[in-house]
Amino acid sequence: MSSDISKVLVVGGGIGGLCAAIALRRQGIAVDLVEIKSEWTVYGVGIIQQSNVVREMARLGVLEGYLEAAYAFEDVGIYDLQGNALVRIPGQRLAGPEYPANVGISRLSLHQVLSTTAIDLGTQVRLGLSVESFQQDAAGVDVSFTDGSAARYDLVVGADGVYSKIRGMLFGDTYKPRFTGQAVWRYNFPRHPSIDHLASYVGAEGNAGLVPLSDDLMYMFSTSHEPGNPRYEPAQLAELMRDRISKIAGLVGELREQITDSSQVVYKPMEVVFVNEPWFKGRVLLIGDAAHATTPHLGQGAGMAIEDALVLSLELCGSGSVEERLERFMTRRFERCKYISENSIMAGEREMARDATFDRIGLTKAMLKLTAEPI
Ligand SMILES: Cc1cc2nc3c(=O)[nH]c(=O)nc-3n(C[C@H](O)[C@H](O)[C@H](O)COP(=O)(O)OP(=O)(O)OC[C@H]3O[C@@H](n4cnc5c(N)ncnc54)[C@H](O)[C@@H]3O)c2cc1C
Repeated sequence: MSSDISKVLVVGGGIGGLCAAIALRRQGIAVDLVEIKSEWTVYGVGIIQQSNVVREMARLGVLEGYLEAAYAFEDVGIYDLQGNALVRIPGQRLAGPEYPANVGISRLSLHQVLSTTAIDLGTQVRLGLSVESFQQDAAGVDVSFTDGSAARYDLVVGADGVYSKIRGMLFGDTYKPRFTGQAVWRYNFPRHPSIDHLASYVGAEGNAGLVPLSDDLMYMFSTSHEPGNPRYEPAQLAELMRDRISKIAGLVGELREQITDSSQVVYKPMEVVFVNEPWFKGRVLLIGDAAHATTPHLGQGAGMAIEDALVLSLELCGSGSVEERLERFMTRRFERCKYISENSIMAGEREMARDATFDRIGLTKAMLKLTAEPI
């Protein structure tokens, strides 16, 4: 370990921040983590994690607990809006032949696995506070927190999401989240026996996906064009979600009438941001959505945050000045995250344009090929 990086502050206790804490602790680096929420909760529904993420979970040393909490599956099935199979894309077992290719996992379960591991490894977590300000010199960063406390760190990692305060402190107003024109609708159901893989239903008239989360649970997602980013009455959400998937038949059509509880609909406008220059200044660095929040079309946003965390821990322990190590981190991360970011956004634009020539299958295959490459 490079002795000049022995104490790191991670700002944000989401997926990226927790993975950074785990990866840094495994390198013997002391980690303080501050999370702005005083109740460390995450919202319902689940998340798709593809083969590159399963591989990195193994390298983070959390694979066992993670797989216990997840639903493992192999293939991705793409169907038309009538439910006819178009293609089955086989999964790649990148973590090793004994481990599954992909998983679906509830966000709450993922949070529990990651937060328990980070704390067990000695991460000092403080909830309900943030960074008030920082000042850095060549050897470290003096941080003042919103509760009046202060501490000095060798490095500060901003993992505080799409609305990152740390990004604003580094780059001012240069990078602001942008609404893409689309939103995502999600709803949990008891798992249907046929949903033992990720099933994606696509066509010009709409789209939806069904993702297994456990033996008993799956969730549906659908993306829709929402010009002007309207604010809907919470009580309307079930009816609106039914409307957005009304052109889809097959299993999605059967499930549609079960979307009745508006309080269980998770509606999220899509917002993106990409920091198009090095994600660090001096000893303060951004990872995850703080640097490159994109749309969920390729199911890789969290995957990129997790990879950032792992690569950061590896590079910090390498040789050279802090700047050289952070530059090597950027070399390993920038183009890969840019590809995911741009192509996810492009997929949403094609959906909004109802572009029948959009080769979604080709894009999915290209993304899987790229993300299978080692980081
Ligand atoms: C609808 C939708 C579906 C998605 N589906 C998938 C998927 O299937 N697969 C996938 O890989 N990705 C998916 N993503 C993307 C994924 O959720 C994000 O990329 C991922 O959560 C990013 O992790 P993060 O830790 O960088 O940020 P976040 O998860 O946003 O975590 C940031 C944390 O920082 C905290 N915080 C914020 N501000 C401060 C502050 N000032 N001080 C301290 N703490 C702060 C927040 O409370 C939060 O806990 C999806 C995204 C959306 C919107």
